[in-house]
Amino acid sequence: MTAAGRRGRGVAVLGSTGSIGTTALRVIARQTERFHVAALTAFGNAELLASQERATSPSYVGLVSPNGTKPPAGWRVGAASLVEAATRDDVDIVLNAVVGAAGLDATLAALEAGKRVALANKETLVVAGELAAAACARSGGEIVPVDSEHSAILQCLGRRNRSDVRRLIITASGGPFRTWTPEAIGAATLADALRHPTWSMGRKITVDSATLANKALEVIEAHFLFGIPYDQIEVVVHPQSVVHSMVEFVDGSVLAQMGVPSMELPVLYALTHPERVHDDGVPRFDPVAHSPLTFEPVRLADFPALRLGLEAARNGGAAPAVFNAANEQAVALFLEGKMQFAAIATSIDAALAALGTMQATDKASLLAADAAARAHVAARAGRN
Ligand code: NAD
Ligand code: MG
Repeated sequence: MTAAGRRGRGVAVLGSTGSIGTTALRVIARQTERFHVAALTAFGNAELLASQERATSPSYVGLVSPNGTKPPAGWRVGAASLVEAATRDDVDIVLNAVVGAAGLDATLAALEAGKRVALANKETLVVAGELAAAACARSGGEIVPVDSEHSAILQCLGRRNRSDVRRLIITASGGPFRTWTPEAIGAATLADALRHPTWSMGRKITVDSATLANKALEVIEAHFLFGIPYDQIEVVVHPQSVVHSMVEFVDGSVLAQMGVPSMELPVLYALTHPERVHDDGVPRFDPVAHSPLTFEPVRLADFPALRLGLEAARNGGAAPAVFNAANEQAVALFLEGKMQFAAIATSIDAALAALGTMQATDKASLLAADAAARAHVAARAGRN
């Protein structure tokens, strides 16, 4: 079908070859009356990207780091393709499913261009939450979260005033090491860390879910998305990942959003919010099959990456960007087999001690803090 014959709103899927990106393409393929794929971008994996192009006929395809392979004619190559895809006239919604701070420029550019950003790339808000909020205020752009916890909170909030909220309660599965002793966690292997009990996701977020750094990223994400102070955001462990998060209101009422652990609904809802549409691809929930539902406190002392991230959040300035970049660098080394699991948190700790008080208000200084943190972790790992 030609672009001119397209129905519905144009969606740019950034990071289309990943876990969220492929989910998004499935969702859009079921909703052809409402949405079409206007642009695709990915990092490597040109073969899968080419098959996605054949299936969806976007007007724009961007490939980052083609590793010397010759991309098909008509594709744009390079990191700038993310921003190009995100700001096109035929794009109404930018689904940012890039992993890491690499997604930052595209989010900010899309918001400045007044687009809806369906945001999976939580690192954007951790590095530059204030800049993203300012871009929304200036241009009329909006962020609708894809992250399941934040989608849940958005759905529980509805149109209520933020002043009605007493507390956000973010649930965490607890990851693969929820019941492990500190000694066993310290000796965890890569295979152990990649064995997530309830969610199937990309490798970086899967490791973040084992260290619980992911929950710190999510607390910061919630703070910026909903404008709620950190002392009104709590984390509780919920091993079944059925209650996706809760909102407590000032009168004591608590609303929760529930469903099976699947990203089909959060991705769909980020596109359709505030509407709800019928979709047979979203798995149905059976309360009896999913019982019992249990909750337990988070073991902050045994998951130092979470504690460090929460401290960085409260310290503000460059600290969240340093936390995020140190974590990205350490996780990359862990995934390459060049770092022990426990060293992820100690690397973050050392980077924050050295760089966490850097001043940063604009993009250039935040990116400088990001680069310094990556260099700090890499240099420290090289010495050990
Ligand atoms: P993934 O690794 O499966 O996919 C990442 C995608 O981004 C791929 O298409 C890859 O080609 C692209 N990419 C990677 N590095 C890039 C770079 N430097 N420049 C441009 N593109 C790049 O990751 P994922 O699990 O789909 O996660 C994506 C984002 O969504 C992350 O921020 C993650 O925290 C968030 N998220 C994921 C899930 C999930 O269920 N997978 C749930 C909630 C939030
Ligand atoms: Mg999440």
